[in-house]
Amino acid sequence: MTDHGCIKCGSCLRACPVLSDPNGTGFPGPRTVGVDVPRFPERGRIGERALMCTMCHACEWACPSGLEITGAMLQLRAEVSPGLQLPGHLRMRENVRSFGRAVRTEFTGWREEGNRTLYFPGCIGLGPLAAMTTTASSLLTALGIEHDISSRAVCCGSPLLKVGALAEAKALQHRNMETLAAYERVITSCPGCTYQLREVYGVRAEHMVEVLKAKDLRSKVRGKWALQLPCHLKRGLSPWSAEALVHVLTGAGVDIVRLPVEDRCCGGGGGMLAGFPATARSMAHNKADAYRAAGVEGVITACPFCALNLGREGLRVLDVSEAVHAEKMR
Ligand code: SF4
Ligand code: SF4
Repeated sequence: MTDHGCIKCGSCLRACPVLSDPNGTGFPGPRTVGVDVPRFPERGRIGERALMCTMCHACEWACPSGLEITGAMLQLRAEVSPGLQLPGHLRMRENVRSFGRAVRTEFTGWREEGNRTLYFPGCIGLGPLAAMTTTASSLLTALGIEHDISSRAVCCGSPLLKVGALAEAKALQHRNMETLAAYERVITSCPGCTYQLREVYGVRAEHMVEVLKAKDLRSKVRGKWALQLPCHLKRGLSPWSAEALVHVLTGAGVDIVRLPVEDRCCGGGGGMLAGFPATARSMAHNKADAYRAAGVEGVITACPFCALNLGREGLRVLDVSEAVHAEKMR
């Protein structure tokens, strides 16, 4: 991270969804946390304020100087996190220590058949969104992609990395690499998992939208639907991955409405959901109001964290795998 080059233009501040949220008071903002504070020896005094961001990358995208703001914030988190005791983050770490995943596992439909492809739903997809995982698995099967869902695969480590728990994230990677060695291909439904497996582990991992974009699909839904373009899909993986979601849905005939808020952070990522639930809730609430005002049936996304956080607002929120079907499933 360079600590030079900030021209104090304020673009990052205007882009930050936490700063503009009524519940985001107390967050000093990306320029302070990601550019100014890391330069000073007293940076540890930032405390839990270093964790009050969703890692949505909007500040970095807005920065005309190309500063790696989120990378610097992650480093700062790693330095300060050993002294932090946020209840939600402690609970997440305890869950990982107890049973290998960031949330309680509710999924029971394991498939351990010796296939060469592994479907890796991610912690939320094996927990509160287990029904999504069952649907996604059926879609892959209908598309001729035989796959395992392994009970031995644990959290990819991304949630822990995001809150600064580097050693625990590394230990999870070590455990997963033993399991992944049996597979040639990994498909995930979570952009955070895809990034972690692909860019941190270095394995061949694909997000579901990258798999579906080349398939012949049909819509399962009626009426007009809005998009929730996940931060970690569009700004984490790539804008082309976000375009793949659009391509999959329009190609299948889903009537989608493009809204200006569609790529704005919902508050579900970066440890915000566990660490600062009131802020995560407020951000989701404000987005849900914008979707309701547009008069759509609901929202389609491609990230379990977005689906979980927005779904709590009473919106109909579908994963992409729940919105389409393969031709032969009709
Ligand atoms: S990553 Fe997103 S939430 Fe975090 S400081 Fe940057 S714009 Fe704000
Ligand atoms: S957008 Fe970049 S250059 Fe502008 S204030 Fe923020 S960090 Fe500095």
